[in-house]
Amino acid sequence: MEPIVVVGGGLAAARATQTLRDQGYDGDLVVLTAEAFPPYERPPLSKDYLRGEAGTDALFPHDADWYADRGVDLRTSTTAVGLDVAGSAIETAPGGSLRYSRLLLATGSQVRRLDVPGNDLDGVHHLRTIDDADRLRTALGDDGPLVVVGDGWIGMEVAASARQLGRDVTVVGRSPHPLHGLGARVSEIFTNLHEENGVRLLRATAVTALTGTGSVSGVELDDGTTLEASTVVVGVGVTPRCDLAAEAGIELRSAADGDGVAVDGTLRTSAPGVWAAGDIASVPSVRYGRALRVEHWAFADETGKHAARAMLGSAEPYDVLPYFFTDQFDLGMEVKGVTSGEVVISGSAADRECVAFWVDGDRVQAGMGINVWDRMDDVEDLIRAEGPVDRAALDAFV
Ligand code: FAD
Repeated sequence: MEPIVVVGGGLAAARATQTLRDQGYDGDLVVLTAEAFPPYERPPLSKDYLRGEAGTDALFPHDADWYADRGVDLRTSTTAVGLDVAGSAIETAPGGSLRYSRLLLATGSQVRRLDVPGNDLDGVHHLRTIDDADRLRTALGDDGPLVVVGDGWIGMEVAASARQLGRDVTVVGRSPHPLHGLGARVSEIFTNLHEENGVRLLRATAVTALTGTGSVSGVELDDGTTLEASTVVVGVGVTPRCDLAAEAGIELRSAADGDGVAVDGTLRTSAPGVWAAGDIASVPSVRYGRALRVEHWAFADETGKHAARAMLGSAEPYDVLPYFFTDQFDLGMEVKGVTSGEVVISGSAADRECVAFWVDGDRVQAGMGINVWDRMDDVEDLIRAEGPVDRAALDAFV
């Protein structure tokens, strides 16, 4: 029997591998990851790992010995460069090929780059890998001004970490307010948090060029001004790495439907014997009635496990609500569901101790706990409840 092959070096790959063994699969199992490390999780890279408060232990669900002890053929620094779904074969670099009985694609995301002059100057950073975080951590040791381009989750987390390390930090965002997908009221909670901690936030502002000779020294803005910068972090989003699947003719979702590899409820792709999990997987949602592709830790965790069970024969449809967490300064947040609709806040937004709900039509779509813990099961019950939503119960939730 040919091996099961997992392609990927993130949490989805780690969880799938673990689950295959936990569920009793004792056949040949190969993990191919382009990076030099065993599969790892990325949230600490913008938080405690970046600040030097946590080591690599915080990153690895399993070390290399764990794979060896379980007879998993872990091939680091090995990239899958070709996929032949008719022949059930993968081509790798450095050169080689292997056949598979079942294949999991968990190739994750890659960072978007700024399409402006100067984007390749020294001192311009992106953050996706351990190597990126190590480089940025070294750069944060300098005391010059830091400019973060992008006011999404990664940008705001890096801004918080850099500020905690004493850097002068400016965040440049294109939207009317940071974390714009959350809407103005919830964004304001994060805006106030950052401004009270000394982060400068520029809204509705575009970067037109990064300037400097060899190393970056300035960030030109569309209002004609230039910010001084010794370090620039670009956090303008990611794109799913679907090229391997696409070149093999596996069905993808359109950009209008959120991109990604199209899978069914068992995370099976359009190619026989091929599954997908993590950031690349666009999964039909039972609750929301449409496909969702979620670029978060918990989705990689859950879909990695689910795909492994499906590869071993489970026909259970995936039905886990999206979940995300962040830590910035003294704020801890977790959110379940899809944040669209009208916002209802229970508790005190001013004191940053509240739960925000998103209500669309007569149903709760999502709930976010801000410094409020252990209520996510209750939030999930509300999201799954058939309408009409009880507004008084939402107001009194905290
Ligand atoms: P990835 O983690 O992207 O891993 C994919 C791996 O596959 C990479 O190692 C890549 O090199 C490898 N690969 C790709 N193509 C090939 C190939 N052809 N051959 C071999 N290997 C290949 N989420 C949260 O919920 N909360 C957070 O606080 C949070 N913080 C984050 C902070 C940072 C700095 C980053 C970068 C992400 C954060 N996320 C957070 C998002 C979360 O980390 C991702 O959703 C998660 O990493 C996705 O896991 P994955 O396994 O799908 O893919």
